[in-house]
Amino acid sequence: MKEFKYDAEKAKKINEKINAVLEFTEIEGNKEGKYHNTPFMVKDNIQVLETKMTSASKILENYNSTYTATAIQKLLNEGFKIVGKTNLDEFAMGGSNENSAFGPVKNPWDLERIPGGSSGGSAAVVAAGIVPFAIGSDTGGSVRQPASFCGIVGYKPTYGAISRYGLSAFASSLDQIGVLATNVKDAATVVEVMSGKDEKDSTTLDINWDLTSEIEKEPEKIKIAIPKEVFEVEGIDPKVLEKFKENIERLKENGIEIEEVEIPHLKYTVSIYYIIAPSEASSNLSRYDGMRFALREEKESLKDTYMETRDKGFGIEVKRRIFMGAFTLSSAYYDAYFSKAAKIRKLLNDDFEKVFEKYDAVLTPTTTMLPPKIGELKSPLEYYLMDLFTISANMIGAPAISIPSGLIDNLPFGIHLISKPLEDAKMLRIANKFE
Ligand code: GLN
Repeated sequence: MKEFKYDAEKAKKINEKINAVLEFTEIEGNKEGKYHNTPFMVKDNIQVLETKMTSASKILENYNSTYTATAIQKLLNEGFKIVGKTNLDEFAMGGSNENSAFGPVKNPWDLERIPGGSSGGSAAVVAAGIVPFAIGSDTGGSVRQPASFCGIVGYKPTYGAISRYGLSAFASSLDQIGVLATNVKDAATVVEVMSGKDEKDSTTLDINWDLTSEIEKEPEKIKIAIPKEVFEVEGIDPKVLEKFKENIERLKENGIEIEEVEIPHLKYTVSIYYIIAPSEASSNLSRYDGMRFALREEKESLKDTYMETRDKGFGIEVKRRIFMGAFTLSSAYYDAYFSKAAKIRKLLNDDFEKVFEKYDAVLTPTTTMLPPKIGELKSPLEYYLMDLFTISANMIGAPAISIPSGLIDNLPFGIHLISKPLEDAKMLRIANKFE
């Protein structure tokens, strides 16, 4: 990783325009560490001692972290320095950063536009040149989609590669910490440092990755699959599709073999995501009851205290998710929704397994559109549909990456790769070649 000069004053000035940083910090890492003093920022839904952890929610506005997340501690051990906590959609629910209790983040490419989300603050600080990389979390695309909207790299590794201990839980079977960086190699280095078994998260894998050197190897003949469903999606911006096709031609000219395949269950991913993720969220968020953490709106009865705390503390999107999740998990509707969604998740997994028998990666655009203007999209559904191409990776626990691949009307466009779980090194080698 190249040396990086961090300028705190300049960072604060830039932040006045983009609202990407919620708290500036100076938390030094190990002096003997290989990356001593290399600055980075952390999404504010991750615990870091000596900082608040608001998850961009009123309910945690005054909550101080009580420990440091394993992934972040590993970065500190290697000498990296934490210079700030970044803004996000409340509890990582959203794709635009307009859902933050502390105001929207602005896209450094065009201040009238969203940076994407939910790790929009992390994307914006990297795109604005404040830090060389930032940490985000990705449940359905929250690292990759803002990376695409801000013209940088966003990498979510295989599920279980990085400990979630200290990451505020949204949908635990999908959540994964990831990184936003200016290039594939830096992203690989950062994930390598964060990865590995952690006894505090039983879903972590016993891996010992050397991505930094793996990425240097020349990839074998690359075989890429494109789901033909990409060309049939309703509501995809035609300019996005055109740019995607241009990229396909460019890659073919570089000797990469590309074929169309069928991923029949791809079209259901948004639907099953908005059953599974809210279900898990409604359960995870029940801990915010006004008894143990931060905000407490005291009322006569216990029930009223719960209700008032949650009413005042949660924003509209979070409430919507809790309602949806409580509904889909309720005994009367469990079979109709949650259990069906779980079955389709399995079928989607089968689709991808079949593709990975023959191909090294699945290629799509990262999102279906260019970054919209702040306030431009009106219905939640419009936001939900943006994540059509990113959700699958979370559903099947696979590694995925967004790579900047040109501009459309002066706005960044990204392409997206998914590889087989645990084949992160191979995916990164390909991504490195695509860059
Ligand atoms: N945009 C998706 C959502 O709103 C994904 C969020 C995420 O990955 N954290 O839930």
